[in-house]
Amino acid sequence: MHYVSTRGHSGRKQFCEILLEGLAQDGGLYVPESYPRVDDATLKAWRNLPYASLAFEILSLYVSDIPPADLKAICDKTYTSEVFGSPDIAPLRRLEPGLYLQGLSNGPTLAFKDMAMQLLGNLLEYELARRHEDLNVLGATSGDTGSAAEYAMRGKKGVRVFMLSPRGRMSAFQQAQMFSLQDDNIHNIAIDGVFDDCQDIVKRVSGDLEFKRRYNIGAVNSINWARLVAQVIYYFSGYLQASETAPEGVSFAVPSGNFGNICAGHVARMMGLPISRLVLATNENDVLDEFFRTGVYRVRSRADTRETSSPSMDISKASNLERFVFDLLGRDARRTKALFDDQLTERGLFDLSGDPDFAKAAARFGLRSGKSTHADRLAAIRDIWERYNTTIDPHTADGVTVARMHMSPEVPMIVLETAQPIKFAATIKEALGREPDRPRRFEGIEELPRRVKVLPADARAVKSYIAEIMQGTTSRKPAFGS
Ligand SMILES: *Cc1c(COP(=O)(O)O)cnc(C)c1O
Repeated sequence: MHYVSTRGHSGRKQFCEILLEGLAQDGGLYVPESYPRVDDATLKAWRNLPYASLAFEILSLYVSDIPPADLKAICDKTYTSEVFGSPDIAPLRRLEPGLYLQGLSNGPTLAFKDMAMQLLGNLLEYELARRHEDLNVLGATSGDTGSAAEYAMRGKKGVRVFMLSPRGRMSAFQQAQMFSLQDDNIHNIAIDGVFDDCQDIVKRVSGDLEFKRRYNIGAVNSINWARLVAQVIYYFSGYLQASETAPEGVSFAVPSGNFGNICAGHVARMMGLPISRLVLATNENDVLDEFFRTGVYRVRSRADTRETSSPSMDISKASNLERFVFDLLGRDARRTKALFDDQLTERGLFDLSGDPDFAKAAARFGLRSGKSTHADRLAAIRDIWERYNTTIDPHTADGVTVARMHMSPEVPMIVLETAQPIKFAATIKEALGREPDRPRRFEGIEELPRRVKVLPADARAVKSYIAEIMQGTTSRKPAFGS
């Protein structure tokens, strides 16, 4: 399998070559040259596989530059009940006839990002050892991504993490999760500023090519293809768990921000998984709902991006959307480039409302969308608690709200549960008048000693901190990919 850019750059690359690359050279995103198809007989044969074996079967279709025995070992090491809390890994639970919750947030940081990041950590350690290279992962987080990356990379040979977060702005639980890590290779940096400042600094540091090369700086952000393909696995798992009762296929409802999670659902559907509808849920930051309703994709300004009670969906643009639009336009790289490069840069929007491809999109790709507000979240949290004795987090609540707008009687709807309620205790308290239950392993984490460096919102300060840390270390030599 080879990968190509959505904007047409022709260098075909293999899986491990793009493992650590962000954007392709032409600014596009990597996508597989074509989607491998999975037929009914194969699906049937996969029905009783443990999750790790299912992961191996699916990844094998996308990875041709890791020997199968090694890939199998990586999958077996990643998807264990010790790490994910149960042998099912992504268990399906029926709430009522036709409505299910799929648990994706039972990993180390209690958010669905662990499902992919844990695999990426093991893939990276493997590939870096094979190349005798090492890597400094630099990232910015407002919560879930940073902790998932740190818990996936902690203690891994050849990898260091420098994670920027806005000082004092994550939930108390999220801060405690990250800052209590004592591993030598994990470096928390609290920036005196907001999340956008952190992102700007990351951009500036990575934009200094001389610094980037010298210190082997890389990223593991949401456009990473390995993360995306790892998410495809749980769509298959969800379908296989539900399908005995679902001859017509299933639908999924996905709390969405950067379009990473639901894009994996789109890939699974393109591979032939019988998905009827892919239902995209946004919060008040409804860039994506607007696009799927009207055909107009309008990137929001900072001032127009709201802080909500489902903060991991607070986005001003959706970094993975380009992969979907590429397919929507019949994989026309020239048109994709014209939209995402020329029009977005010039006008801050593009408009497909009159386009025949867009008009056919809902039918061809099964996509539906909807928007959920703070009041909707509170109502959904209360409703699911009162009827099913289950507490859901605010992001999952957005998924439930929008799922209910698009249910159809003969097709089961699976809502992806993207985080555990304890991560967002204040909103649960507002909805239910009490704190959510806390898993035993997280008792008292707020009291643990913390390891965090506070720095001003200044790229130079971050660079000198990285340089200082690196002085005291011995690294394997050349930079990844250079
Ligand atoms: C990251 C995240 C999302 C959004 O996922 P995307 O892949 O960015 O669409 C939703 N819910 C939670 C809890 C998250 O951490």
